[in-house]
Amino acid sequence: MYDVKGNLRQVLGQLPQGVRLVAISKYHPNEFIEAAYEEGQRVFGESHEQELRLKHESLPKDIEWHFIGHLQTNKVKYIAPYVTMIEAVDSLKLLKEIDKQATKCGRVIDVLLELHIAEESTKYGLRLDDCRQLLADGEWRELKHVRICGLMMMASLTDDCEQIRQEFMTAAGFFDEVKQQFFADAPWFCERSWGMSDDYNIAVGCRSTMVRIGTMIFGPRIY
Ligand SMILES: *Cc1c(COP(=O)(O)O)cnc(C)c1O
Repeated sequence: MYDVKGNLRQVLGQLPQGVRLVAISKYHPNEFIEAAYEEGQRVFGESHEQELRLKHESLPKDIEWHFIGHLQTNKVKYIAPYVTMIEAVDSLKLLKEIDKQATKCGRVIDVLLELHIAEESTKYGLRLDDCRQLLADGEWRELKHVRICGLMMMASLTDDCEQIRQEFMTAAGFFDEVKQQFFADAPWFCERSWGMSDDYNIAVGCRSTMVRIGTMIFGPRIY
């Protein structure tokens, strides 16, 4: 088997204090997750509702599941009862649906707003101006069953480290802006989720608080 435990230890050893690891287990079997779990890892990320549901049902209940992929509004009801954090909220519509389903479950669900800073047109997420607009509109303030805990983003898929660094720094600067304008009295608004297998070393230098790492720990995904 792939040396999940060794890889996990290596990754954790490289993360500065204050940066949490979300182990991205999508497309990997339960045995790999169990190996990481035995090493003490409790936070895992998945991007497909059905796969997440099966893993949630069969794996230890103290695992904290982050939903990291693009989430369709009609899928929210399935994950609302148990998901710890929904990382990639990119519309008010989705935010409202999460609030609605969380209300039904008697929960408050933590979420991050996903930014679109990368060059690729295929990436999901809010453009900075759209994010400003969403927050300025203020309707989100009425949603008592979601808690906006910070921002999430993916850098461009490129070998150009300087470009990646600039995108992370743009996100970090934008975090400060919205923190000051909208979340100054909200201590829970503190998360900056950026950095994946290929760029987490850059991300931690750009004030990331949460890295989402799959391949480095679990190996290549077989789709
Ligand atoms: C798959 C995925 C990751 C992990 O990517 P790796 O390159 O395998 O580390 C991180 N974030 C998101 C949103 C993903 O979909």
